Amino acid sequence: MSAARTPAPRIAVVGAAAAGLAAAEGLRRLGWDGEITLVGDEPHPPYDRPPLSKHVLSGGWEPERTALRDAGQLSELGLDLRLGTRAVAYDPGRRALTLGDAGQTVLRCAGVIAATGVAPRTLPGGDAVEGVHVLRTLDDALALHRRLATPGRRLVVVGSGVLGAEAAAVARALGHQVTLVGTEDTVMGRVLGPKVGRLLADVHRAHGVALRSGQAVTGIRAEAGRATGAVLADGTVLEADDVLLAIGSVPAVDWLRGPGAEAAGLDLSDGLRCDEFCAAAPGLYGAGDVARWYHPGLGRELRIEHRMNASEQGLAAARNLLAELDPERFGERRPFTPVPYFWSDQYDLKLQAHGVLAGADRIEVRTLGEDPLKLAALYGTADRATGILTIGLTPRQTRSLRALIATPAPWPEAITGLTETVAA
Ligand SMILES: Cc1cc2nc3c(=O)[nH]c(=O)nc-3n(C[C@H](O)[C@H](O)[C@H](O)COP(=O)(O)OP(=O)(O)OC[C@H]3O[C@@H](n4cnc5c(N)ncnc54)[C@H](O)[C@@H]3O)c2cc1C
Repeated sequence: MSAARTPAPRIAVVGAAAAGLAAAEGLRRLGWDGEITLVGDEPHPPYDRPPLSKHVLSGGWEPERTALRDAGQLSELGLDLRLGTRAVAYDPGRRALTLGDAGQTVLRCAGVIAATGVAPRTLPGGDAVEGVHVLRTLDDALALHRRLATPGRRLVVVGSGVLGAEAAAVARALGHQVTLVGTEDTVMGRVLGPKVGRLLADVHRAHGVALRSGQAVTGIRAEAGRATGAVLADGTVLEADDVLLAIGSVPAVDWLRGPGAEAAGLDLSDGLRCDEFCAAAPGLYGAGDVARWYHPGLGRELRIEHRMNASEQGLAAARNLLAELDPERFGERRPFTPVPYFWSDQYDLKLQAHGVLAGADRIEVRTLGEDPLKLAALYGTADRATGILTIGLTPRQTRSLRALIATPAPWPEAITGLTETVAA
């Protein structure tokens, strides 16, 4: 008579993209030899999002090139990979994850890593209207790319943040008529501040983008199920063949809501609230765009929608979950204290930001010589510098500026460092 075998313990990672993949890879690399179930509601194996608004939209890249790993690399991880499957509920008390598959499978888990990212905001009246787009997934990017394959389209981009700015730049480079609508008279000004935001607005104007600022788009005008324009708050209609909504996003936490979440005290008010170890409850960790966590170095909570953070936090969540499950084997949990980083490509400009720009009450901008598009900007508070932005600087200059905020330096000292770096 054979002895009954205990099933291998399982860790489920929900969300099969940058953060989820990093978590799954981290679990294996750190020595987890139990089951890893990676659940993703998209049909595609994990792929990268930053190229979507750049190379996929422009047609420069075939979609396959966005894959984060090839089939062989994924198979080596020995995953229980469930693509095209939504997680619909999680009960942290019972550690029970319910999938939205035909059998409503319930998986008992030793731990769960939530890496479900964010979903784009939309506008009323825009659903199921041909020519109304969002840009979050590979399928979204391919759909808009196909529309832009027809020359001479009129594209209205709603939202002048990073996503809207990148899409506008690509559409202009393809020769389309582009209107960029934002509530402020800047591009990315909410994050980068008014001075840099105005500079970027000038760059877009110089490339032929029509900027409509100080106006919100309140709806879509459609005829026979096709978009014909975007309606501004004052009633003006901007005629369009296509409208791209780039108006922000909401964290994908619906699957975490429910009585179990309430009993466990989960806070889902702006993403999944986690502590400095990326833990939201015993056995439940968060990573990537969906996770709001306490950054002890900065003394505040952050939720960061940047590509590098997704990978770094996926790995950190994996490490800390393992340490919680088996501290003797995996060691102590460690706080997650990164220096955040993001970049954006618009026309021939590369913007790079290290640290935290949001929440700064002072910004110091320095240009390199006469060229206004070669610049470094320092962001911070009276106490200290928290972030830097560079455009057109050498990697060496960017590295030395990063050092100012990684430490972090007091504001006056950081200003001296900024001046010296820009003069070097
Ligand atoms: C077009 C675009 C361009 C970008 N460009 C840049 C850039 O230049 N620089 C930069 O730093 N950052 C950029 N970003 C941001 C960066 O890509 C994200 O920060 C990163 O992809 C976040 O990874 P994530 O794994 O946390 O979330 P996501 O990539 O959103 O992945 C979450 C996954 O979980 C799935 N999911 C959601 N709910 C469920 C559920 N209930 N069950 C199962 N699966 C679920 C989602 O469908 C998705 O596949 C860009 C983002 C976009 C969309």
